[in-house]
Amino acid sequence: MSDYDYDLITIGAGSGGVRASRLAGGYGARVAVCEEDRVGGTCVLRGCIPKKLLIYGAHYADYMEDAENYGWTFDSVKHDWSKLIENKNTELDRLNSIYLNILKNNNVVLKEGHGVLIDEHTVEVSGNRITTENILIAVGGWPSMPSIPGIEYAISSNEALELNALPKRMVIVGGGYIAVEFAGIFAGLGVEVTEIIRADNILRGFDIDMRTSLSKEMEKRGITIKSDTEVRSIEKHGDIFFLQLNDGKSMETECAMYATGRKANTKGLGLEIAGVELSDNGSIKVDKYNRTSQPNIYAVGDVTDRIQLTPVAIQEGHALADMLFNQNTRMTDYTNVPSAVFSTPPIATVGLTEDEACKKYGEVDIYDSNFKPLVHTISGRDERSVMKLIVDPKSDIVVGCHMMGADAPEIIQGIAIAMKCGATKSQFDSTTGIHPSSAEEFVTMRSKRNG
Ligand code: NDP
Repeated sequence: MSDYDYDLITIGAGSGGVRASRLAGGYGARVAVCEEDRVGGTCVLRGCIPKKLLIYGAHYADYMEDAENYGWTFDSVKHDWSKLIENKNTELDRLNSIYLNILKNNNVVLKEGHGVLIDEHTVEVSGNRITTENILIAVGGWPSMPSIPGIEYAISSNEALELNALPKRMVIVGGGYIAVEFAGIFAGLGVEVTEIIRADNILRGFDIDMRTSLSKEMEKRGITIKSDTEVRSIEKHGDIFFLQLNDGKSMETECAMYATGRKANTKGLGLEIAGVELSDNGSIKVDKYNRTSQPNIYAVGDVTDRIQLTPVAIQEGHALADMLFNQNTRMTDYTNVPSAVFSTPPIATVGLTEDEACKKYGEVDIYDSNFKPLVHTISGRDERSVMKLIVDPKSDIVVGCHMMGADAPEIIQGIAIAMKCGATKSQFDSTTGIHPSSAEEFVTMRSKRNG
């Protein structure tokens, strides 16, 4: 045992930090975690979980509308936003206490307060200095907004999850995950939503067919997508915000939300003093074992700017604890990482986009399907599901799989396992479908797309 107070001090009790700390504690290491907010991090407190609960809440509007042609009538329907927020917060409290128990049950000491590195083996929290053999930085990221005049009037996803009341109109700036997800939530709850994107299409980096199909579905739901548009400034007059746009026009709204990316939370941590190098965008540089430029200091999750997804941060934290305290040195595998955008309808994806696959393999075979799901033949809802498989013709291996439509995240999770195992198109074809389902399309697509 070293002379330090701890074997590991983790700064940041989010998904990655908690996973690493509780495993390390379970392996017998002496571990402390410092956290200045509540334990849980972005995913549990300000991201994935509260967002998905609000999405569930918004979807009931669709279910009730769709139910009419199935014979249901609802005499009086209204929505109580405060009740949804209150119940969502109760669930977050429950998750927070589960996280606290996980730490406690694995003998991890929680130090409440902002952790600052004093040197490579010393952390100061709330005026107390503690020493440690290893340090893990897992402080995540924070919404980043462009510095335009009036940006102080804009809210981020943090505040959008806590609004006192629903606005009549809302402008959402950005075309990434968060922007399209929140557009779906607020439009579903009856807010007039305009999404302003500086590019020509939403969701840069996603497969082109998914991007185009989702923007069509969002527009069918009454969401206006203003492409090739930038906000120059925001002014406030009374309760109304006026957004000046690059085309010289202006827009009025009751609420302006920015979802223009997230930046690593590296300021004020003393990283420079401890010899930890940062990238130009402020994130921490790490090697494939999550080690920073200071050999006993590690970093995992969004603070490192690799793939900003909770399950990836968890895998990184897990690998780190295994390496430091369980004699199992291994790297996180970043191939075929599936992800979902919980837009309305959702998109889920694993592997390469068509563009990426063409660049990598030259020619690829595309199998796709665009159909009205069975449920909507009676409901009457004009909503399509779109599926796409990308195959390397030389090896027959499926190298990309994409879906937009109901249940896409649930379906693609299973496909991701097949792709991790290197499944070929012939193996997809020889798999028996589950009928009637949308998922069976993935094993029944026989015709290649021409051209
Ligand atoms: P993203 O990086 O996904 O998207 C940022 C968006 O903002 C892009 O459309 C980008 O446009 C636009 N943008 C950036 N800077 C400006 C600017 N100055 N003016 C106008 N537009 C701008 O970020 P998000 O904030 O949506 O999400 C952050 C990350 O969190 C995601 O990348 C994802 O990894 C993770 N996340 C994952 C979720 C999930 O798994 N379901 C849900 C939510 C977040 P352009 O494309 O032109 O660059």
